[in-house]
Amino acid sequence: MSQHEHMHQRPILYVVVPCYNEEEVLPETSRRLEAKLRSLMDADKIARDSRVLLANDGSRDRTWELICELHDDPSHDGIFTGISLAHNRGHQNVLFAGLMAALERGCDISVSMDADLQDDIDAIDQMVDAYLGGADIVYGVRNDRQTDSRFKRCTAEAFYNVMRRMGTETVPNSADFRLMDARALEALSLYGETNLFLRGIVPSLGFETAEVYYRRAERFAGESKYPLSKMLSLAVDGITSFSVTPLRMVTLAGIVFVAIALLVLVYALVSLLFGTTVSGWTSLLISIWFVGGALMLSLGIVGEYVGRIYMESKHRPRYIVAEELS
Ligand code: UDP
Ligand code: MG
Repeated sequence: MSQHEHMHQRPILYVVVPCYNEEEVLPETSRRLEAKLRSLMDADKIARDSRVLLANDGSRDRTWELICELHDDPSHDGIFTGISLAHNRGHQNVLFAGLMAALERGCDISVSMDADLQDDIDAIDQMVDAYLGGADIVYGVRNDRQTDSRFKRCTAEAFYNVMRRMGTETVPNSADFRLMDARALEALSLYGETNLFLRGIVPSLGFETAEVYYRRAERFAGESKYPLSKMLSLAVDGITSFSVTPLRMVTLAGIVFVAIALLVLVYALVSLLFGTTVSGWTSLLISIWFVGGALMLSLGIVGEYVGRIYMESKHRPRYIVAEELS
C-alpha cells in the first residue's frame, strides 16, 4: 500500500445523516453514532473535534426538535450538530446540503449514511482505515440483498442493468453509504445540477477509491420514507441526468417506423396494381393506434428531457437551509 498524504494527521470526521420524519429511530441512531465516534477517537483514528451532522429534510414530526436537543444537551459534549432545510427536498438534495455544510465546517472526511440504521455503523472503522490507506472515496457495498423485498431486489437489479447499458458508471449494490474526503467533496461541490443523482456523480469524479463490504440490516423502526413514486423519480433522474440514449432510441424507433411505412407503401402499390380489394380495415386500425402510441411515448421521452432542461435553466437553488446549529 502506498504511503499517501493521508497519514500525517488524525482526520476530522463528519458523519452526515439525512433525516426525514425519523423521530422513531433518532434516539438509537444518535446513541450508536456517538459511541462509534468516541471509540474511533479513543483509538486515535480520528480527531477529537469530529462530529455527527444531522440534516433535517423538512420533517413534519419532532425530528428537528430532537436534533436541537442532542445539540444542546451538554452530556453529548457538542458531538452533535445539524442543519435544517426549509422544506422537504428529498434524500439526494438534503444529503448534498449536509455534505457541503460538513465541508464548510472544515471536515477532512465525511461519511454519509441513512438514519434508519440499515447501514452498518461498524463499517465506518474499515472506511476510515481505507482512507488512511490512501483512498479518497470509500464505497459501502452490501454483501447481499436478503433484507430487501423480492420486488425491490428485482427492480433495483433491472434499474442498474439499464443504467449500465446506457453508459452510466455506478458501483453495484452500493447506495449512499460512503466515505468522501475533502478533496472529493470539493469536486462534488462543483456539480450544480438540479436533478441530483449522487450514485452516478460520485463514481464519475475519479480519485482513489476503495470498497468496504457490509450486511444491510432491516430498518430499525418506522417505515420507509422512499415510496415507489420517489424511487421511480430517482430512477428517471438517474437515467436522464447521465444519458441521452433514450432520445437516441426514439430516433431509432422513428427510423424503424419509416422503414415499415415504406414496406407498407410497396405492398399497397402492388395490391393496387393487381386489383386486390380493400380489405385492410383491421390492419389500418391497428397501425393508426400503434403509430399514435409510439409517437406519444416518444414525445413523452423528449418531454422528460425538455422538462429537465427547463428546470435546470432556471438555476434555482436546490434547497434553502432554514436553520443551522453551531
Ligand atoms: N430521506 C430524506 N428525505 C426524503 C426521504 C428520505 O432525507 O424525502 C432519508 C431518510 O430519513 C433516511 C434515508 O433518506 O435517512 C433513506 O430513506 P429510507 O430508509 O426511508 O429509504 P429505504 O431504505 O426504504 O430505501
Ligand atoms: Mg432505509
